[in-house]
Amino acid sequence: MSRPVDLLIIGAGPAGMAAALTAAPSGISIAILDDNPLPGGQIWRDGPQAQLPGQATEMRAQLQRYSNIHLHSACKVVALAGPKKLLLEDAERGYVLEYRQLILCTGARELLLPFPGWTLPGVTGAGGLQALIKGGLPVSGERIVVAGTGPLLLASAATAKKNGANVVRVAEQAAFDAVSRFAMGLWQWPNKAVQAVTLASRAYRTSAYVLEALGSDRLEAVRVQVGSRIEEMACDRLACGFSLVPNTEIGKALGCEIRDSAIAVNEWQASTLADHYAAGECTGFGGSELALVEGRIAGFAASGQQEKARELWPERQRWQRFAKRLNQAFALDPAIRKLAKPDTLVCRCEDVAYAELAEHTSWNAAKLNTRCGMGACQGRICSTAAHTLFGWEPPHLRPTFSPARIATLACLDEAEPSSWS
Ligand SMILES: Cc1cc2nc3c(=O)[nH]c(=O)nc-3n(C[C@H](O)[C@H](O)[C@H](O)COP(=O)(O)OP(=O)(O)OC[C@H]3O[C@@H](n4cnc5c(N)ncnc54)[C@H](O)[C@@H]3O)c2cc1C
Repeated sequence: MSRPVDLLIIGAGPAGMAAALTAAPSGISIAILDDNPLPGGQIWRDGPQAQLPGQATEMRAQLQRYSNIHLHSACKVVALAGPKKLLLEDAERGYVLEYRQLILCTGARELLLPFPGWTLPGVTGAGGLQALIKGGLPVSGERIVVAGTGPLLLASAATAKKNGANVVRVAEQAAFDAVSRFAMGLWQWPNKAVQAVTLASRAYRTSAYVLEALGSDRLEAVRVQVGSRIEEMACDRLACGFSLVPNTEIGKALGCEIRDSAIAVNEWQASTLADHYAAGECTGFGGSELALVEGRIAGFAASGQQEKARELWPERQRWQRFAKRLNQAFALDPAIRKLAKPDTLVCRCEDVAYAELAEHTSWNAAKLNTRCGMGACQGRICSTAAHTLFGWEPPHLRPTFSPARIATLACLDEAEPSSWS
């Protein structure tokens, strides 16, 4: 095993890249890893149909310029391998990396909630469809309905439209009053006001949510509640996501405290575990600007530049105010929690229906009796849905955190064989 790296950063989205770039001038050794092939995270995901903004390409180029930053791309965390040691795997090898300090920048994922027909081919998350299109999925000429909640719906619709799709409806579950109050307050964040105008769509409706996806072998149409009316519209794709949930699993496994479903941090972005920081959307959903400033604060703090970190507190506060308004405006209508019918699948890996889960009182009881969460996604989708539907505390992720090769697991012998539970 090689020498410990001074600073390990998990996640190369806006927060992780910002953390690495602010810590780098101090000269400490930095490793930044991400499970995607290229840095950028969710918002700056690359691909044949992606158009990256200048800020993203510039930050990516800067990462290459620092000889003390080592980028581990297409690399995933497999397990804990002892105190301040992680078992990692990329396409070629498995290895144990030891670190002195860690910044978790693991971002967030979409909240997918069940409704009749949501498992039909042609139905994806809103950000999910955007990621597929950036990755090269052709959608030219397709009729697309985007639904769920939050600004990601408009971003996803804009990507689809730019690639030739016909976006027939953008169904936002939040009420008109909440959305317009939010929009009226955007003058305080002028770049967000400009973005809102750029992304605006004539297909946008508030108090609107999908009741059912219809089709036999694949999606053919959707039924949408729009205010007091029900619309049925033919479409080729439905992209439906109910905002984002922080990726806290690695932080939780390490022992960081989780508060309000996010990694708890103090003013230095330090978690409750010594030498472990967290920044960006794993500490709560708030957009890329908040992720960037949090990443910078964490990078400065972890490299001993506390004064520089402190100077950024007012900027973070400004974006925290934006995040608060965003989360208030797009809070879930209780009606969304009632869309699933008794036979609607909640765990689509193991085919467990809503009625089977509703008999139980906790995630563990439901898992033991129904196999929910035991499939390929290991509960990432359904335990989060169950948290929203039934209020059940999501489980601790147990190693391995992702599927791994046997040869990778054998590397644990080099570290501490008993340390990965
Ligand atoms: C699907 C999706 C699409 C989005 N699209 C937009 C958009 O178009 N516009 C917009 O304003 N906002 C968008 N957002 C919101 C956006 O994620 C944030 O505003 C911003 O990207 C957050 O930055 P971050 O650095 O905190 O996290 P992210 O950008 O999410 O970056 C986290 C990175 O960490 C990696 N990672 C996580 N866990 C591990 C692990 N265990 N091992 C290795 N790597 C790991 C992830 O793959 C990811 O690359 C999107 C969010 C999602 C989920």
